[in-house]
Amino acid sequence: MFDTLSDRLSGIFTKLRGKGRLTDADIDATAREIRMALLEADVALPVVKSFVAALKERARGAEVSQALNPAQQIIKIVHEELIGILGGESRRLQFAKQPPTVIMLAGLQGSGKTTLAGKLARWLKAQGHQPLLVACDLQRPNAVNQLQVLGKRVDVEVFAPQPGNGVGDPVSVARESIEHAKRTMRDIVIVDTAGRLGIDTEMMAQAAAIRDAVNPDEVIFVIDAMVGQDAVATAEAFRDGVGISGVVLSKLDGDARGGAALSVRHVTGQPILFASTGEKMEDFDVFHPDRMASRILG
Ligand code: GDP
Repeated sequence: MFDTLSDRLSGIFTKLRGKGRLTDADIDATAREIRMALLEADVALPVVKSFVAALKERARGAEVSQALNPAQQIIKIVHEELIGILGGESRRLQFAKQPPTVIMLAGLQGSGKTTLAGKLARWLKAQGHQPLLVACDLQRPNAVNQLQVLGKRVDVEVFAPQPGNGVGDPVSVARESIEHAKRTMRDIVIVDTAGRLGIDTEMMAQAAAIRDAVNPDEVIFVIDAMVGQDAVATAEAFRDGVGISGVVLSKLDGDARGGAALSVRHVTGQPILFASTGEKMEDFDVFHPDRMASRILG
């Protein structure tokens, strides 16, 4: 991910090497090239605009530094602005004062929610928590089974509608799971929900009903980092339809331009909490804006 953007930026910085003081014209030309590089990487236009405006303002106002030459100064500003659009600091999960903490996952079908549920359960368990996984994706035929397989793999119980009890209503399953968690002393409940291939009012209404039933401490929006410009509309729909408190970027191991990853924080106004980087349960980590920014700059 980000290979093309990294190459483009490094080409832009190379042109600045060896220059003395940067004129306003140099700064404008550099800002234009960075704008193009970000747009070509599928970064959303409002994000690009605010990035470039900040870059210009800071480059013009930059003190003449003894320690940094103009190219280094621009790189420093770009690095800091990238960290800014990725959210600045890492943000930890919010835990309930009174357990269980409820974490609800929302996102389109195929975005990586069920996989993330397993990863998150494994990660929390390794920190001494006692999570419970809850299968509320009753739309996708294999989703409950998939979660049960993952639950087994990470050795975490999965609460699911019982076979024979009808298909089950995801809102009741969600509500019952909280009671079950309290009875069995689980301190974290991870609720997997249904997604559709596209934004759909029925799916949004179901997600909102599950949210109301479980009163989550976190609603995590899972977004496939491989999607391009569609990311913005999807993120806005979940922000407005369900209300989200954090984001997880999945499939960051993919070979995409990375625009979604760079836009989602700005578009949702919520922090990126974790990064998913593969299909295996251990391909998962806390999201660090500074590390991601450094990776983009190569
Ligand atoms: P859901 O429909 O949102 O529950 O999505 P799934 O968890 O079923 O994921 C959809 C597909 O993406 C599956 O084939 C997963 O193995 C795959 N997947 C999930 N997360 C990642 C990731 O971080 N990297 C890669 N390469 N594949 C992933």
